[in-house]
Amino acid sequence: MGIVLFENKKSCCGCGACANICPKGAITIKPDELGFSYPVINSELCVSCGACKKVCLYQNEAPLHNPICAYAAVNREQTQLEKSASGGVFAAIATYIVEKRGIIFGATLDFENGHPIAHLIGVEDLNQLSRIQGSKYVQCAVEETYKQAKKYLDEERKVLFSGTPCQIAGLYGYLKKNYSNLWTIDVICHGVPNQKFFDDFISLERKNHGGLPIGYSFRDKKRGWGMNTRLDLKGSSGKAKSVYTPARLTSYNTLFLDGDTYRENCYECPYACKKRVADITIGDFWGIEHEHHELLRKAEFDEKKGISCVIVNTPKGMELLGEMKQKFYLCESSFEKIANKNGQLNHPSVQSDRRKVVMEVYRKLGYDGVEKWFHKKYKKQIAIHSIYNAIPRKIRIALKSVLQR
Ligand SMILES: Cc1cc2nc3c(=O)[nH]c(=O)nc-3n(C[C@H](O)[C@H](O)[C@H](O)COP(=O)(O)OP(=O)(O)OC[C@H]3O[C@@H](n4cnc5c(N)ncnc54)[C@H](O)[C@@H]3O)c2cc1C
Repeated sequence: MGIVLFENKKSCCGCGACANICPKGAITIKPDELGFSYPVINSELCVSCGACKKVCLYQNEAPLHNPICAYAAVNREQTQLEKSASGGVFAAIATYIVEKRGIIFGATLDFENGHPIAHLIGVEDLNQLSRIQGSKYVQCAVEETYKQAKKYLDEERKVLFSGTPCQIAGLYGYLKKNYSNLWTIDVICHGVPNQKFFDDFISLERKNHGGLPIGYSFRDKKRGWGMNTRLDLKGSSGKAKSVYTPARLTSYNTLFLDGDTYRENCYECPYACKKRVADITIGDFWGIEHEHHELLRKAEFDEKKGISCVIVNTPKGMELLGEMKQKFYLCESSFEKIANKNGQLNHPSVQSDRRKVVMEVYRKLGYDGVEKWFHKKYKKQIAIHSIYNAIPRKIRIALKSVLQR
């Protein structure tokens, strides 16, 4: 009987640690019929050594850490802040590591012939940093980055590895030992849709707007910190244009925000809890207007530009943050304050019956079917969001605080 990599889809996060460790190159990551990627063994190459089973921390429990302290934070560098989804904490830490001749691994979104490819890459040049800034709300392929990180670590270069918590656990499983020159960052994550689904959405957008897709931002800040998207397209004359759409008016982003398109395991994620896998956890400081109302009076904590939350989980993370404090505006907070509006710090996303419907529609009718279903099902919400988004931001913020009183 050959090796069984996972009993069911809930026990595989698709990090690819097994494919990275396999000494025979017998494991490849392949999409299933809906586009979610899973490892597949080539039985002709497999020698049943079991390395793939041992490396899997998703099934063998990763060591987790109780948070030590937490902050609200904003990067002092304005250009970095603009390109970041929230307060730009990631870019500030990454810059510090590059300045120390280190390498940073993070998520990028490339486009090839109009098709998006989300994957992790290593960067050691500050000019390339913007490639791994910004949130990509789709599963990024780990590819061979665990192997690459190990090579740099063994050469005693500093390495900062960032990703979703399951990707960080995958890295620790792969490395098997603690490196003093490794720092890790996980994002607060509520789950990931797959690349095929996203690609199909982009193809539909291409039909609607014309031109060749060359870039996509899930969190464009032109209209301020929030959920606004930007699609960059190149026309036949070579001229580029950008289409700005509030996330809630697009099917892909609405279904992502409502938790209806994630991998099956995301709904039972062992890392959606208080104990964290990485040295540092970063996210959006949602609810800052309640938790630290006084901060918003300071120009540096500007709601329009984005505010991060930072949770420090290990002494190593503390030391790193201490060394580079001057790169941020920092304010002490607490895990509880951050978790109040970030449920995935306490429990995984809940799988609704709607996910089954969305996936069934996608299976049978493709993304066109999903788009039609979305416009029918969400008619009222789309109308409300259209009106809401037509209101100037200043008035929207004032309205929100009145309604919340
Ligand atoms: C799928 C996903 C779900 C998220 N859900 C939440 C949430 O519910 N609540 C919350 O507060 N924050 C969430 N975040 C985090 C948030 O969107 C920002 O990424 C985070 O606040 C960091 O912002 P920043 O300004 O410091 O850095 P940015 O420059 O905006 O972010 C860059 C960092 O995000 C990582 N990253 C981006 N996309 C991916 C990806 N697809 N896979 C792995 N790593 C990625 C990069 O490697 C890098 O470390 C989520 C992020 C992702 C990717």
